Amino acid sequence: MTAALSPSPTESDGSPATTDDIFAGLTRTNSLSPSRASDFMTCPLLYRFRVIDRLPEAPSIDAARGSVVHRVLEDLFDLPAGERTHSRANSLLAPVWQQLLDGEPELAEMFGDDTPDLATWLESCRNLLGRYFTLEDPQRLEPAEREVHVATRLGSGLTLHGYIDRVDVAPTGELRIVDYKTGKSPGEHFEAQALFQMKFYALVVWRTRGVIPRVLQLVYLGNGEMLRYEPDERDLLATERKVEALWQAIQRATDSGEWRPRKSVLCGWCDHQALCPEWGGTPPALPEATGAQVPSPITG
Ligand code: SF4
Repeated sequence: MTAALSPSPTESDGSPATTDDIFAGLTRTNSLSPSRASDFMTCPLLYRFRVIDRLPEAPSIDAARGSVVHRVLEDLFDLPAGERTHSRANSLLAPVWQQLLDGEPELAEMFGDDTPDLATWLESCRNLLGRYFTLEDPQRLEPAEREVHVATRLGSGLTLHGYIDRVDVAPTGELRIVDYKTGKSPGEHFEAQALFQMKFYALVVWRTRGVIPRVLQLVYLGNGEMLRYEPDERDLLATERKVEALWQAIQRATDSGEWRPRKSVLCGWCDHQALCPEWGGTPPALPEATGAQVPSPITG
């Protein structure tokens, strides 16, 4: 069911903010994406290190695998439907990897003594692509949009934005939001966490297009499972309240300069243990200016 939109955001002169205005005004410190929201929920200090300090992180073999597989699945839909085969997808892999490497030559350093070699890593990418073809038939799909950057400004002034892997539109006009994951599907107790990202996207789509997506679909290539959810208005209003509360907590931390570390098993994947008080480190002094622009393919 579609409901009335929240009041349209306005510019300082009182005119309504357009989508272009919203993208042009995006900064790391006035907006929230699902990833950064998740960082803050995981550990406020991790959010600070990534958003405020913008500390570099070592190239990750898993993140690079995700980027390559996502790109192949995106490019696959540039082909005529009849050519979207498993073998064609595999043939896209090497050029896509080369493109990524050209842009980020440091990725070559991922392959070392403790990590798989390039050939083994490429094979793991092929396995994920193979699993994709057991879950969907891309010859029967005609996505309306791929890798689409969406953004909306809520009545409070907070801008939400994110990249949706795929939007499908049914002949009836109903929307399906699809996200590919190269990991495994979460256990029952972690499904809500996985769906937060999808509800976040659904909220942005609802606020920008006035339509609640009919289906949110997570495609887990790690174990060949799908998670589907049909959101309703109550879900999305609850998500909006949640992101607003999260944003207020981020604002309080920004104002006080107190970014508390939250130790958990996820510290094992954190690049910043050496600077973290929970691990005997000392964070650097806070930088003074924090309004860096969010990189965006739309704003350039
Ligand atoms: S090591 Fe753990 S507690 Fe410290 S910043 Fe990273 S995630 Fe947070």
